[in-house]
Amino acid sequence: MREIVHLQIGQCGNQIGSKFWEVISEEHGLNATGIYEGDSNLQLERVNVYFNEAHGNSGAGNNWAKGHYTEGAELVEQVIDRVRNESESCDCLQGFQLVHSLGGGTGSGMGTLIINKIREEYPDRIMNTFSVMPSPKVSDTVVEPYNATLSVHQLLENTDETFCIDNEALYDICFRTLKLTTPTYGDLNHLVCMTMSGVTTSLRFPGQLNADLRKLAVNMVPFPRLHFFMPGFAPLTPRGSQQYRALTVPELTQQIFDARNMMTACDPRRGRYLTVAAIFRGRMSTKQVEEQMLAMQQKNSNYFVDWIPHNVKVAVCDIPPRGLKMSSTFIGNNTAIQEIFRRVGEQFSLMFKRKAFLHWYTGEGMDEMEFTEAESNLNDLVSEYQQYQDLRWTLKTIKPKMDWEYI
Ligand code: GDP
Repeated sequence: MREIVHLQIGQCGNQIGSKFWEVISEEHGLNATGIYEGDSNLQLERVNVYFNEAHGNSGAGNNWAKGHYTEGAELVEQVIDRVRNESESCDCLQGFQLVHSLGGGTGSGMGTLIINKIREEYPDRIMNTFSVMPSPKVSDTVVEPYNATLSVHQLLENTDETFCIDNEALYDICFRTLKLTTPTYGDLNHLVCMTMSGVTTSLRFPGQLNADLRKLAVNMVPFPRLHFFMPGFAPLTPRGSQQYRALTVPELTQQIFDARNMMTACDPRRGRYLTVAAIFRGRMSTKQVEEQMLAMQQKNSNYFVDWIPHNVKVAVCDIPPRGLKMSSTFIGNNTAIQEIFRRVGEQFSLMFKRKAFLHWYTGEGMDEMEFTEAESNLNDLVSEYQQYQDLRWTLKTIKPKMDWEYI
């Protein structure tokens, strides 16, 4: 068995993490006490991939420095002990997944501290995070861009794959598509859990594509720093409601590539896909899925880099998520993800230029230098995405000049 150790930290991490467990327990036919009540061997075959939780719980008052350097640092050894215990009881540990927000103090500051410690101890295991990006549409805590930027600075070096769940996108989906005028965290988290269930499908059920965290990383990450994924889901349905009709494969394909179905507030049409993985769930024709996905790529070839052949992968899993006949989940590594980092980076710089709120961090012993370094690391990341986005266009502009020289 190839297990994944799951950790959830902070308010957001715990709220989303608990919901994720409810959803996947049901999918595997497990009741609340862990007893199997399902009806298909497929549900059990790989259920042990996920097991026990490890908690890291405290209040860091939205201060990344408290989570990372002071209060969190005092607790971290206890958490690592639990992680060590869980890891030792694994048959063959594939890696870790951590659920947290980047805008607060605990999940963000202590979460990244835990990641670094685990990395030190298990350098050859995969580290995967589901990281919730802050948005002023959802939260009004002003220092969130600081916490998020300091976190991304850490995630850049110490995770192998990060699913960017953007509260701005979740809010927009609730408001525009699902017509919820005042979305709650429960509504946002419903979208997150459908997506998390989708992206972990290939890890939890038997199949070929991206069957473990390492294979996913190998297929999805062409350069180590560019490991921030844009997840998407179709069909989008509000909490507790049923879809009124099953969608067709062409409709699902159309929707997962639609900017409105992305869980990050970035428009993929303003960037280019480095890599894509899609997972279709339910009873459907695999051949039709492959044809539709191919047609989508051919029609939009400009939006896929042409220097990574076969950069779109598709899998089909027979078992649909609960309450739906069919669904599709999308994982995109798209250069447009830079829009999130630009958004957070601009908010960071506006405050940092004037050193606003900095005393809360330096008061915990942090050096201003770490802010400067985090800011430039984020800016570098944006430039790297831009560089790979432009790669083909550079070749195109060189070509006429060569022709001219030839003549
Ligand atoms: P922590 O407990 O110190 O880690 O702080 P939080 O997790 O509350 O971090 C605050 C950030 O997380 C803000 O950007 C919030 O909008 C976001 N957040 C808090 N709870 C939830 C939740 O349940 N769902 C989502 N999507 N975001 C949340």
